[in-house]
Amino acid sequence: MAAQAQDMSTNSNTDSELLQKKIDALLELEEDLILILNEGGLIKNVNLNGALTLDFKKEDLINRHVMEIVTTKCNVEIANAFKGLIDGTPEIAFEASFVSNYSKEILFGISAKSIYHNDRIFEIVMIGKNITHLREITDEIESLRISLIETNRLIMIERQRANQRRSILEELNRLKNEFVSNISHELRTPLASIIGFSETIASDPDMSNEMRNEFNNTILNEGKRLARLINDVLDISKIEGGKLEFVKFRFDAVALIKEIIGAQTKSAEAKNIILSSELADEEILIDADKDRISQVVTRLVNNAIKFTNPKGRVKVIAKNLFKEMEIIISDTGIGIPEGDIPFIFQKFYRVSRPGTEIPGTGLGLVFVKQIIDLHKGFITVQSEVGKGTTFAIKLPKNHI
Ligand code: ADP
Repeated sequence: MAAQAQDMSTNSNTDSELLQKKIDALLELEEDLILILNEGGLIKNVNLNGALTLDFKKEDLINRHVMEIVTTKCNVEIANAFKGLIDGTPEIAFEASFVSNYSKEILFGISAKSIYHNDRIFEIVMIGKNITHLREITDEIESLRISLIETNRLIMIERQRANQRRSILEELNRLKNEFVSNISHELRTPLASIIGFSETIASDPDMSNEMRNEFNNTILNEGKRLARLINDVLDISKIEGGKLEFVKFRFDAVALIKEIIGAQTKSAEAKNIILSSELADEEILIDADKDRISQVVTRLVNNAIKFTNPKGRVKVIAKNLFKEMEIIISDTGIGIPEGDIPFIFQKFYRVSRPGTEIPGTGLGLVFVKQIIDLHKGFITVQSEVGKGTTFAIKLPKNHI
């Protein structure tokens, strides 16, 4: 019986020795870090490869506190893990940076499990996978992702810019084509009259003097219209090239406006339009280029007559203000749609009025605005479709 008991005890010794050997073999073979801690956090065992990863010998780590080999910033993670295990959580996973023997930080993904004995935590087993490289790669991927987003954003902005540039170029091209076709049309109409009337005169030697004079007059007027058009184009390109020369001297703006109204009365009467004025009683002396200001007012009065139906009214007002003068040209004409108003001072812009054939090049107001700008003046427009349009110009009397 005693011999049997002896035998059993030898057997169980052999079993636990074998188990220990197996555990040692497993610890030895394992590549990841394995730490066996007591309930207070002292390292009771560590595998060889794990210790080597931290550049320690196995025996250097035994009986050291785990906190000693963890970076201070990870103390909280470890403390929380311990607390969790003590509070009964069976297994806890977290990340913590360990400090190697040569002060290198190594990041581990850790799984910790508590081993209970007699209802008390006996030991804590921690298995740590070195994820430093993985983290570096994920960080790299993240920063690449961010720069990819940034690059995509820049590409998008560049693409939008290129599209904008392309649409500006397309718009310029469209305007240019439209201008060429407008101007050709504008040139062809007076030219056709000039050629037609000249041929009629030439082919009819018996034509009455009265008719000949009338035809000659038409030829002269159409010729003048042609010259005006060509001058418009040249003037604008001169202004844009900064080559327009101003001849500035002092003159009476009221007298000038009276002259302009006198010159326009005929064309207003021809359309049965009442052209009236309300001018300051006194002289308004301004320092400006008289011819250019005359062209500006003439064009605005011309437009007012052109875009007003028979029986309508056009009025020119001149006011003497403190340091400036105001010229208002107002009509009861067809008006400008609200959406077109911001564009009427742009080159070649013409309000589209399908079904009506009012001649023009879309250059008149460009010229007007450029001249007023060069005199440091200001031009505004108010208009209502079917009710009429008012252009108001403020001009400094003595601009430097
Ligand atoms: P255009 O040679 O075509 O008349 P402008 O530059 O003088 O060119 O005018 C630009 C556009 O503004 C015109 O096409 C016309 O539709 C509009 N406009 C100018 N003045 C008036 C006005 N008094 N009443 C209505 N529309 C006007």
